[in-house]
Amino acid sequence: MDFPKALRRDPEKLLLYLNKELASAGYISGERVIFLGRKPVSSFGGLIDRYVKDYVICPVCGSPDTRTEKIKKLGFMICEACGARSSIKSNYA
Ligand SMILES: [Zn+2]
Repeated sequence: MDFPKALRRDPEKLLLYLNKELASAGYISGERVIFLGRKPVSSFGGLIDRYVKDYVICPVCGSPDTRTEKIKKLGFMICEACGARSSIKSNYA
């Protein structure tokens, strides 16, 4: 659970993403996330990388110093380093 906090993302949203991509039914239990079913650790790491790339790293300047915002049901990632605003899938914003 330290991971989403470090990224300043809602753990629930990261879980939503991982569940969909892994076709799993993980849930949060205290400070841990429990995933049902057997998944190779490698696919897990790859997904985290993809999540970070798609939802955390600014596509303009490459800074991870971003936050997400919802505007009229659309998700945006706002970069605090360069001020760029990029649209993202709102489900995970
Ligand atoms: Zn930026």
